Amino acid sequence: MNQPLQGQILAAFGRRYLVELPGGELLDCVPRGKKSEVACGDVVEIMRTSAGQAVIERIAPRTTLLYRSVAFREKLIAANVTQIIVVVAAEPSFDDELLARCLIAAHDQQIATLIVLNKCDLTASAQAARSQLAPYRAIGYPVLELTAKESAAPLLPYLQGHSSVLVGQSGMGKSTLINSLLPDARAATREISTALDSGKHTTTHARLYHLNADSQLIDCPGVQAFGLHHLSLGEIEEGFIEFAAYRDQCRFRDCRHLHEPGCALIKAVQEGKISARRLKLFQQISQGGTT
Ligand code: ZN
Repeated sequence: MNQPLQGQILAAFGRRYLVELPGGELLDCVPRGKKSEVACGDVVEIMRTSAGQAVIERIAPRTTLLYRSVAFREKLIAANVTQIIVVVAAEPSFDDELLARCLIAAHDQQIATLIVLNKCDLTASAQAARSQLAPYRAIGYPVLELTAKESAAPLLPYLQGHSSVLVGQSGMGKSTLINSLLPDARAATREISTALDSGKHTTTHARLYHLNADSQLIDCPGVQAFGLHHLSLGEIEEGFIEFAAYRDQCRFRDCRHLHEPGCALIKAVQEGKISARRLKLFQQISQGGTT
């Protein structure tokens, strides 16, 4: 008797998905119909079709959905996550606009955030990275410093009870971090993934790993761009959480905080209450950059 089963998406490969059943069984699935809007972390209802294979019939309502978009194109990153961890490093230098974009998306979905500063053993460059992160610390974003190649242990307490998604540019040492957290799980998943992937998809995909009974980790490889085309100007503005106290004080209600007279944000920057760099990032992002 073919009963619908509930499972969770562990990985996505183009139109094929690796689904895990509650008992741990893994199935190679395709969605019914043409649309494939399934994300890593999604809870899905599936029907077996043959040994090891099934069709995704339905996606359960999501608590959160993290995705990036440019005009007419969306890329789902992860579903049902409760926390986004942005990994940056002392070296090479990181893109703080990408960081800001991740935090805006997180704010929009009401997802908890953690910034990890990796490679802190490189003391001279770590100091520069710290300065770059200072505006984020100042407005309340937690920043965790570590050196993943030595130990990822400082991160463990932050992962407990969360479904976290790890994002970062390539070169930030995110793989080292994942390997250190999940030495066995990662190798096992890689094997399955390789079998499913059949060499067709050279792009990397998000993968979900179980840390323990109530903690999951989604590795989202090499995010170099984070388009926020799906967010309105107001939603982007809200993502700059420290602007909240000032944004209603601009002289013009439709102030875009560029060079309007009586702009409360420009004044707040002049008075040192808001970071000049953060206002600059807002201007860049709200002016319609597509990265
Ligand atoms: Zn303004």
